Amino acid sequence: MARARVESVQTFGKAMVTHFDHGLSVYSHNQLYGKWYTVRPDRDPRTNRQLRFAVRTEHRDALLYSASTIEVVAREAVHAHPFISRLGPDPLHDDVEVTTFSKRLRDPAHAGRQLATLLLEQSFAAGIGNYLRSEILFFAGVHPCAKPRELDGPTRRKLAKKIIEITRRAYSTGGITDDPRRAKRHKKAGQSRSVYRHAVFRRVKQPCRACGTTIADADFSSRRLFWCPRCQPAV
Ligand SMILES: [Zn+2]
Repeated sequence: MARARVESVQTFGKAMVTHFDHGLSVYSHNQLYGKWYTVRPDRDPRTNRQLRFAVRTEHRDALLYSASTIEVVAREAVHAHPFISRLGPDPLHDDVEVTTFSKRLRDPAHAGRQLATLLLEQSFAAGIGNYLRSEILFFAGVHPCAKPRELDGPTRRKLAKKIIEITRRAYSTGGITDDPRRAKRHKKAGQSRSVYRHAVFRRVKQPCRACGTTIADADFSSRRLFWCPRCQPAV
């Protein structure tokens, strides 16, 4: 155990780096199952999970259970970490802008790739999971089979904008990606969260909220993708 102050915390997709003021940082990767708990120092959470990393303070403990990887790295070596150095920009980071992604969509390394596949690749954008892929494509009005080079300039820019907007919306709402006013209306009307949460994701055979067309679904990269055939026409 070492005494130090946490200076900052950075996330990279499902990886997290906790920077301490003594110059060392702790890299942790949650995969799909790592879980943080914050508890009072005298109360360990009731769990059968294995404790992997603990930050203990006088008033509060932050405990990470079940994460697959925990590594201590020098702060200046964090950017060269094998996982982090391969990651694309994270739409949640403050320094990432719409132009960051409109440039990447024009880049020959990405422009010829099918968007359904590209959006899940962590080397293109860090942290876009399966439901965000469907929701981003819907709000951009882009068919999942389209490739960036097939889109006109305004559509490509709109897609770049939605990559950032929908990812940040999901972060701030705890996972609700549909239009905030519409979600609020549905919530007020007594609908459950699973009903109003998304615009298209897991809404198979239900009417599109924008045009009433039946939502379609298919597997892309072994994960289920949902889209509206009318709002997202094939190019
Ligand atoms: Zn539609």
